[in-house]
Amino acid sequence: MPHDHAHTVLPSDPALRVKALETLLVEKGLVDPAAVQEIIETYEHRVGPQNGAKLVARIWSDPEFKKAILAEPMPILQELGYYGRQGEHMVLVENTPTLHNMVVCTLCSCYPWPLLGIPPGWYKSDAYRARAVREPRKVLAEFGLNLPDEKNIRVWDSTAEIRYLVIPERPKGTEGWSEDQLVPLVTRDSMIGTGLAQAPTQ
Ligand code: FE
Repeated sequence: MPHDHAHTVLPSDPALRVKALETLLVEKGLVDPAAVQEIIETYEHRVGPQNGAKLVARIWSDPEFKKAILAEPMPILQELGYYGRQGEHMVLVENTPTLHNMVVCTLCSCYPWPLLGIPPGWYKSDAYRARAVREPRKVLAEFGLNLPDEKNIRVWDSTAEIRYLVIPERPKGTEGWSEDQLVPLVTRDSMIGTGLAQAPTQ
C-alpha cells in the first residue's frame, strides 16, 4: 500500500506523546488539569530572566543589600519570592574588572529556574556543556564576547544541588540611574556569563 497520507498535519511525535500521557493521567484521576495549567502559566509568564534582572539591578543600587545577599542569598531570595524548584540553593558570583564568571552544567542542564526561567537551547547542547569548561575564552568569543587576556575566567559547574547566578558588572555611564532604569540592561546571557550587561547607548 502506498504511504502517501499527510503526516505533516499531525503535531510532532513528542507533542502527541505528551498530550496522550496528559489525557491518560487526567482520565485516571492522577493529575489535576488545573495544576498542569498552573505550571505552564508559571513558566510561561511568571518565571523568567526578568526576575534575575530585577535582583541584579537592586544589587547594583543598594550596597547593603548586595553585601547581605552575596553572603547568604537564600533567606533573601525566599523573602523576595525568587524561590522554588531548581533554585533551592543559589550561589551568586560577582564579575569584577579582573574576573569574569560563566555558568554551565556539564552533566545535563541544571539552571536557576526561579531567577532565569527555562534554559535556552544552547545551554543544554553537548557542545556548550563540553566546551565551556575546556575552552571558555573561545566559547565566549563565539557569543561575541571577547575578553582581554588579562581578565580571568572562572567556570562554575551547576549541579542538582547548587545553581549559580552571575552578577554582571554595572555598565559605565549609568551613574545615578534608578533600579527600574537599570533592569532592561541586565540580559539573560549576562547572568549566565555568556554576555555582559548592555551599555546604556545600545
Ligand atoms: Fe544539570
